[in-house]
Amino acid sequence: MDAHVISLANQKGGTAKTTTCANLGIGLAQAGRKVLLVDADAQGSLTLSLGWEPDELPITLYDLMIKAIQDRPVTHGEGMLHHEEGVDLLPANIELAGMEMSLVSVMYHETILKQVLEPYKHEYDYILIDCAPSLGMMTINALAATDGIVVPTIPQHLPTKGIEKLLESVHQVRRGINPSLKIEGILMTLMDGRTVYEREISEMIRKAYGGKINIFGTEIPRSVRAAETSAEGKSIFAYAPRSKVAEAYRQLTKEVLALEKQREEHRAEIGR
Ligand code: ADP
Ligand code: MG
Repeated sequence: MDAHVISLANQKGGTAKTTTCANLGIGLAQAGRKVLLVDADAQGSLTLSLGWEPDELPITLYDLMIKAIQDRPVTHGEGMLHHEEGVDLLPANIELAGMEMSLVSVMYHETILKQVLEPYKHEYDYILIDCAPSLGMMTINALAATDGIVVPTIPQHLPTKGIEKLLESVHQVRRGINPSLKIEGILMTLMDGRTVYEREISEMIRKAYGGKINIFGTEIPRSVRAAETSAEGKSIFAYAPRSKVAEAYRQLTKEVLALEKQREEHRAEIGR
């Protein structure tokens, strides 16, 4: 069975894409899944939050994509990092910012990342791609390689506008390059759980999209513990296992595994 590829995407910055990528990835690894994380953001925040100094890495996703573009050979496992909590990482640094330009003149430029990931698809159960806060070519490359998008969303001024824009891109990618692209779910993050306003936003999203899009029952609370972990190079499970954020990411992992079970049942159904 090939890896299920999930992209953490939202063109808005600061919605906990990177934090969710790291913690959901490690949560899935703790549930016995083989997990590859891919840093597709030139900021290198995922790479940094897992304990590596992005600018000191000799090989990053940029090099692998350039090699794919130039049809040069890549050694299996080249540039791959192994995190002590059981996930692997294809890292990124600021060099990746040059990829948008490098891709412009390339044929099939939406599927370069997909090509890079192809040799790993049969080795992992999950590949999680941490997208940059944009709908540029790197994000389109991520969506072209993706089975399901998780959209981390914060309860601030009308997030529905941003969701609409993302949905437009999803439709475009579906029409052009990846007809099977789905939305795995909208995930509410950075929830204070105190203000009426944020409850209203959360409910508005559930009303507006709940019928067509999965909205995760788990909401990730705002807590300084979560912000601290990214400086520690480890997951919230290792840094603050009893915190409410760790508990929330455990619940989210369970929800994602329930979707896996649904896919299996669906496959068995059509295989019958
Ligand atoms: P994105 O990748 O969408 O830009 P990040 O995961 O980098 O978002 O999170 C944005 C900021 O919020 C970071 O400084 C991060 O440490 C912090 N953060 C993430 N999740 C939480 C949380 N549950 N509570 C408090 N701060 C958080
Ligand atoms: Mg990020």
